[in-house]
Amino acid sequence: MIDPHLYTVAVHAGTEPDPVTGAVMTPIYQSSTFVQEAPGQHKGWDYSRGTNPSRDALQAALAAIEGARHAIAFSSGLAAEQAIVQNLSPGDHVLVCNDVYGGSGRLFRTVMARFGIEFEFLDLSDLDRARAAMRPETRMVWIETPTNPTLQVLDIAALAEIAHERGAVAVVDNTFASPLFQSPLKLGADIVVHSTTKYIGGHSDLVGGAVMTDDGEWAEKIRYMQFAAGAVAGPIESFLLHRSIKSLAVRMEKHAANAQAVAEFLVEHPKVRQTFYPGLPGHPGHDLARRQMTGFSGIVSFQIDGDLDAATRFVQGLKVFALAESLGGVESLVNHPETMTHASVPPALREELGIGPSLLRLSVGIEHDRDLVDDLAAALEGI
Ligand SMILES: *Cc1c(COP(=O)(O)O)cnc(C)c1O
Repeated sequence: MIDPHLYTVAVHAGTEPDPVTGAVMTPIYQSSTFVQEAPGQHKGWDYSRGTNPSRDALQAALAAIEGARHAIAFSSGLAAEQAIVQNLSPGDHVLVCNDVYGGSGRLFRTVMARFGIEFEFLDLSDLDRARAAMRPETRMVWIETPTNPTLQVLDIAALAEIAHERGAVAVVDNTFASPLFQSPLKLGADIVVHSTTKYIGGHSDLVGGAVMTDDGEWAEKIRYMQFAAGAVAGPIESFLLHRSIKSLAVRMEKHAANAQAVAEFLVEHPKVRQTFYPGLPGHPGHDLARRQMTGFSGIVSFQIDGDLDAATRFVQGLKVFALAESLGGVESLVNHPETMTHASVPPALREELGIGPSLLRLSVGIEHDRDLVDDLAAALEGI
């Protein structure tokens, strides 16, 4: 269950009535620069790559819902990730969970690796292997949980401890859980990253990212990287995200309730081979998820009993679920990972992770649960 106080925090955090007009929402400060009374003398804002009042308000709200001291809002989730890993140096080694988000894997393998940083992809559910893979030059352990698309659950507290034993930092991509269902910083992680494009934004109308941490030194380094390179959240995106945070708790509650109903329907269906949802008692990560999460969130994956043809007929038979990439919006989406979101994952790794032609991923929205189940039932009937 979501901590009840977070419903209040989500509504109020970062929002102060405007001192000039009394406006209850922080305005969209669509301004690149701010006037100075004398050289170097200003009201705290000078140039919007550095700071902007709309972004400041969003960052206060992001920090509050994540329970973090610092939050930094970026132009995308991957820009946020890049600002973290750009603080590494040639020769550094990073352990990464092997079913990390496809775009994160692409950034690490094809961009950051060219700068002499070694990314080692490993099944981090095997804690002994994770511990054995740590080296003196390991600076970071990159964790994502639940993972995409097979919803593996990783033990944040145990992995953070393994990282800390060797002086490395633990980073958690908390996008799938949202700040309301999982608090990695409380479990010992050092840095949390979100694609705010997903649940925090929640309306499929913007791209954004965020980093949260309690570590002042890391916050400073990441802020500096953002200031130096410039991938800031703009004023309009900041306003929209801040507005979205106000409804995040009620949305997450409904996403999770609907996903549970959908998963319970799929797991019993004769045309479904396997259903992946941490809220199902049969899911291998169920007990761990119950310990480290306060809800199982809204993503459900499953193997349809058939090949690409059957999967294609199924997605084309859906009327409420739309076939599209992304997730976390109020509307329900279906995605075929092999040909869509995970097409850039090396084929051998795709096979190892069980991402084949019959795998489908649902982002369960906040519609009426019965309408969603009926839509799935009709489409399964048609294959
Ligand atoms: C979408 C996503 C990202 C990347 O975020 P963008 O906002 O698309 O740059 C990172 N991690 C996870 C888990 C995601 O789902």
